[in-house]
Amino acid sequence: MDGPESYVIDRTIVLDIDLYPPRRNWLFCHELAHILLDHQKDNSINPEMEREADALASKLMLPQDEFRQDMKQLEIPALREKYSHASWQVITRRWADERPAVLTIYDNHRMTGRYAPQNLTCPPKPSPPETQLIRDCYEARQHINRQTSGEIPLILQAFFVDDDMGVERVLLITEPMVEYY
Ligand SMILES: [Zn+2]
Repeated sequence: MDGPESYVIDRTIVLDIDLYPPRRNWLFCHELAHILLDHQKDNSINPEMEREADALASKLMLPQDEFRQDMKQLEIPALREKYSHASWQVITRRWADERPAVLTIYDNHRMTGRYAPQNLTCPPKPSPPETQLIRDCYEARQHINRQTSGEIPLILQAFFVDDDMGVERVLLITEPMVEYY
């Protein structure tokens, strides 16, 4: 059981019908991943299983070959339009994994997540140019792209998302201009 929004009984996935559709789609794929990965045979789901289920759910929503091909031609807003069944979070998280890049999430002006793929290291807290862009993005209430100068120049993309769910979210993608693996 993953909580009240979704759970699995045997091979039946139970979902809250009132969920925001991209969230419901995500939970469906996440629970389906648990079934496909045969996690139900164990009594408890551990954090490693949750990571596996998240990774497979992302691939179910954004098929790898197609999404990688699209990433070569489309910017993030166009990807969100094409894959409209997936939330901004799922798309930016996948983008960050593939590039690699760092994804920072703010909900109502507070940081709620900062993710770096395994082959990229980043400071746990956003740098001054990142926090400045997040502030600017909240103020402008629209997407803003910016480049920083400095030893390692950064490409920053901030996305303002207000899905009318009572949360104003800013998703920030931070990419070093020179990739270091
Ligand atoms: Zn789960």
